[in-house]
Amino acid sequence: KQLRVALMGLGGYANIVAKAMQDCKMATIAGIVSGTPSKIETWKQKYNIPDKNIYNYETVGELKNNPDIDLVYITTPNSLHHKHVLQIAAAGKNVLCEKPVADNAKQAREMIAACKKANVRFYIGYRLHFEPHTKEVIRMREAGEFGKIMHVNNYMGFKIGDPTQWRLKKALAGGGALMDVGVYSLNGARYATGEEPVWVTAQETKTDPVKFAEVDETILFQLGFPSGAIANCGCTYNFNNTERLYINGDKGFAELSPAFGYGPIKGRTHLGPLNQPVVMHQTLQMDGIADIILNNKPDPHVTGEEGLKDMIVIDAIYESIRKGGAKIFINK
Ligand code: NAD
Repeated sequence: KQLRVALMGLGGYANIVAKAMQDCKMATIAGIVSGTPSKIETWKQKYNIPDKNIYNYETVGELKNNPDIDLVYITTPNSLHHKHVLQIAAAGKNVLCEKPVADNAKQAREMIAACKKANVRFYIGYRLHFEPHTKEVIRMREAGEFGKIMHVNNYMGFKIGDPTQWRLKKALAGGGALMDVGVYSLNGARYATGEEPVWVTAQETKTDPVKFAEVDETILFQLGFPSGAIANCGCTYNFNNTERLYINGDKGFAELSPAFGYGPIKGRTHLGPLNQPVVMHQTLQMDGIADIILNNKPDPHVTGEEGLKDMIVIDAIYESIRKGGAKIFINK
């Protein structure tokens, strides 16, 4: 049996997911949700999708009468995630939603509650939790091979192109670099330590106030963890070659670079180079999610609750910036 997936929002990322899903063993593309007739025609032919499994944003509620779709994968712009997750939950379908889960923690809580009420699963597209090099680093940290974690240093970013795109519009993106690539630095700090931060400080810099009139360009943030470990993290939309995860413990270290993009992820630890297999992350993610749902396996750290944990920190980062870099206490 395969997990039958409908993709909602057929943009750049949906195309990457669909390509990667051609290699999936446990998940298959069974349906689509799109507002663009020309895309519907292309996808229908390319992925052999029956008319009865094709929806637009007005008809998507009718999914509730379709027993042939098990999960909807939402890859629409950030600020639509809240509305779309509520719609899919109301249609009684399991949901996989792209990061960032929502615009803020309040929305994320509403999404979790809606999925719980509808008795559907709610996952976030944290693909790195299925990625072999990342998983090995997490395994080593959990096994104590780095010793006590003292310091984490994560950066993720790129120079963004087209100044008219939705990623630079607050109403669709919710925020800038932090909402998009900052999620990798932050989620990475949480899996590097295995802890939830208890305080946050943050600084913002803007070198192009025209392009970044509505959203943040570059943010640095620091996280303090209950053990005393600290993370120094950053994210940007305005320079390249910014992709690194570094964990320093009192017995060893791990460094992934590149750490967060589609890969190949590369890295080393105090024991030598990491040589895990290189597979498209989205293939592993979709087979992984299918395995969890179809075989009732335990959830990895990709649930809606994990999305909420990131949003709580993101809210605090923006609050710190608003307050001139003030120390904000969270998760107390
Ligand atoms: P995109 O602009 O290429 O695609 C967005 C899609 O949403 C388009 O097909 C667009 O037509 C559709 N859409 C539906 N309603 C819309 C509306 N009201 N306004 C604008 N577009 C609308 O964007 P993308 O790069 O595919 O990103 C989509 C989501 O996927 C984002 O949340 C992003 O953070 C996430 N993403 C995740 C990864 C990852 O590695 N996990 C990578 C890229 C993007």
